[in-house]
Amino acid sequence: MSTTGSNVAVAHCPVCGAEYRSGFERCADDDAALEPGPAPEAGADEPRADAWEAATNRVWNAPKRPASKHPVPVELCQLGRADAHLVLGILEAEGIEADVQDALTEYGFGNAAFPSRVFVNGEQLEDARAIYRGFNERQGYETR
Ligand SMILES: [Zn+2]
Repeated sequence: MSTTGSNVAVAHCPVCGAEYRSGFERCADDDAALEPGPAPEAGADEPRADAWEAATNRVWNAPKRPASKHPVPVELCQLGRADAHLVLGILEAEGIEADVQDALTEYGFGNAAFPSRVFVNGEQLEDARAIYRGFNERQGYETR
């Protein structure tokens, strides 16, 4: 079924929701002044509204997780850029919310001469520290 062409409703009655094609200015049923556009209730053509509602319901009805909605990032450590990203990968693999902030040159590129800062979700800091200790101990056995 095509929605293009002369069958498209160009006005609707705000009172009863009846849709009208061009040429009508008042509702034939209740004489209300028509408003432009199809009736809002004709929602079968508007999956966006449904998707939005579904997403909203999903968020509001989601089971509460132990981590809060607004985790506070806490600096875990400062490392060389390569190590920082290595640690980031390990943390994320262990389920820790983490991020790395690289030092930037004045041109915005990563600057290997300065340490990168590793941030983690403050509520997971203890776990992150334990993982980071493990990383350091392992590094001690490896030649670099
Ligand atoms: Zn009407």
